[in-house]
Amino acid sequence: MSQDADCLFCRIAAGQIPADVVRETEHTVAFRDISPQAPTHVLVIPREHHRDVAALAAAAPDTLAVLVREAAAVAAAEGIEAYRLVFNTGEQAGQSVFHVHGHVLGGRAMTWPPG
Ligand code: IMP
Repeated sequence: MSQDADCLFCRIAAGQIPADVVRETEHTVAFRDISPQAPTHVLVIPREHHRDVAALAAAAPDTLAVLVREAAAVAAAEGIEAYRLVFNTGEQAGQSVFHVHGHVLGGRAMTWPPG
C-alpha cells in the first residue's frame, strides 16, 4: 500500500497520531475534524496515500466508492439526514492536507454558495 511517512493523514490512518476515530474499514478511516465547522464534521480518508479526490478516482475508484458509502454511514450513525460531502481539491479551493479526505458536514442548516 502506498504511504507517505511525512503525511499527517497517512500517520493518522496508521495509528501513529491520535485521532477521534468514528468508523474504520479495510480501506478507509473516518475521524472527527480537529476544528469542526458544524455539529458533525468528520473526515473520511483512504488508508492509501492519494493527493486528492481526482487522483484517488483515477487510481482506485473502488476505494472512492467505499469512501462515499462510509460518508453516508457516518451521517446515519450521527442521526443526520442531510449532509454536505466536500472534497477541497487544490490549494485555491481550500485544500490544506494533501491526502484526499471527504468532509462530512451536517447538523445545521447550510448556505450556498460556499465561501
Ligand atoms: P482541507 O483544508 O480541505 O485540506 O481540510 C483539512 C482538514 O483537516 C481541516 O478541516 C483541519 O481542521 C483538519 N485537520 C488538520 N489536522 C488534523 C488532525 O490532526 N486531526 C483531525 N483533523 C485535522
